[in-house]
Amino acid sequence: MPDTIDQQSPGLDAETFAALIETVRRFVAERLVPIEAQVAEADQVPPGIVDEMRALGLFGLSIPTEFGGLGLSMSEEVRVVFELGRTSPAFRSVFGTNVGIGSQGLVMDGTPAQKQKYLPRIATGEIITSFALTEPEAGSDAASLRMTARKDGARYILNGTKRFITNAPEAGLFTVMARTGGKDSGARGVSAFLVEAATKGLSIGKPDAKMGQQGAHTADVIFEDVSVPADALLGGVEGRGFKTAMKVLDRGRLHISALCVGVAERLLADSLSYARERKQFGQAIAGFQLIQAMLADSRTEAYAGRTMVLDASRRRDAGEDIGTEAACCKYYTSEMVGRVADRAVQIHGGAGYMTEYGIERFYRDVRLFRLYEGTSQIQQLVIARNMLRETE
Ligand SMILES: Cc1cc2nc3c(=O)[nH]c(=O)nc-3n(C[C@H](O)[C@H](O)[C@H](O)COP(=O)(O)OP(=O)(O)OC[C@H]3O[C@@H](n4cnc5c(N)ncnc54)[C@H](O)[C@@H]3O)c2cc1C
Repeated sequence: MPDTIDQQSPGLDAETFAALIETVRRFVAERLVPIEAQVAEADQVPPGIVDEMRALGLFGLSIPTEFGGLGLSMSEEVRVVFELGRTSPAFRSVFGTNVGIGSQGLVMDGTPAQKQKYLPRIATGEIITSFALTEPEAGSDAASLRMTARKDGARYILNGTKRFITNAPEAGLFTVMARTGGKDSGARGVSAFLVEAATKGLSIGKPDAKMGQQGAHTADVIFEDVSVPADALLGGVEGRGFKTAMKVLDRGRLHISALCVGVAERLLADSLSYARERKQFGQAIAGFQLIQAMLADSRTEAYAGRTMVLDASRRRDAGEDIGTEAACCKYYTSEMVGRVADRAVQIHGGAGYMTEYGIERFYRDVRLFRLYEGTSQIQQLVIARNMLRETE
């Protein structure tokens, strides 16, 4: 199994890609933006909208064309995600795990038989996938995970609990990181397994009540003597699961960074139009230089984020190892969108605090970006660790 990053997708021709961007832009503006408040209230994306996402191919953006996906390059994927960021992030979560952390372990390290078995149904959205790494006692220190996978003849027996797993209530397939090595085997003792939701002994906890992103669901996934065949071991090799998880997260960080940029651009557009309309002291507040300073700061930071994400994606497409750059992007853009959301509330004044305007909802939604797929502190540690290694 290769240690390097996966083979790069050639992507689409320019005309087809431009048509895809235009379609996604229209879908976001016409179908998603109008129901943002309704989805937050109901904590549910309507099934009809999920079907439309399937029809658009959104579940298969990153999956190679030979398995029925769109096979976008990283540079193309982030540009699609910029567009998808211009609405509530909960919508992206519906298919985000299929595009990112739920499918990429398979794409990068799966055996040909595993790819053939699952990827076509992941690409169409027939199967929703989840990525199960975090545990009650193992968050940032993921290599200390405790879940066990004990070899029993031609099978593995899985025991343990995974926490805060996105799309767990909807998932048909879990990529699960479990320990095949001894208790103190660290990262080298971790293997990845493909476990179908219907497997006996696997159960899902009550959906978590969250601060934001209503419509997207997380829950515990509990494994009690879950018996899977040996060919459920991802890539067919023990001890490679942690490496797979880290590669998947590197790629996922660019996807999340693009989402942060998209949301920042949406909030900036909303802030600008509110500042033009809202009048105080006999004039539009957009005329006040202190408001202009906030708009300018947000514009500058969103542009910096967009530029970083595009640069790192291009380099990844060219085959470079972008572990450091992906962490830089995730760190910067997730913090950046937090500042942009905070300024958006400020520019909207009291209205920014009221549910009716939806700005406070984005403010809560974006807080997550600094926490999952590696907290800001973990990104800082990755960046510095790589710098020290490179200069040893
Ligand atoms: C909505 C949501 C969805 C999620 N989806 C998934 C999913 O699909 N799959 C999955 O596997 N996980 C998922 N997670 C889990 C997420 O990845 C973890 O919450 C995250 O990695 C942080 O782990 P933790 O919550 O245990 O925090 P902890 O690791 O306990 O961190 C607590 C604080 O300590 C800091 N800290 C920890 N170690 C260090 C250090 N060495 N130096 C400095 N500071 C440190 C952290 O940065 C943080 O500020 C999700 C979480 C949420 C909230």
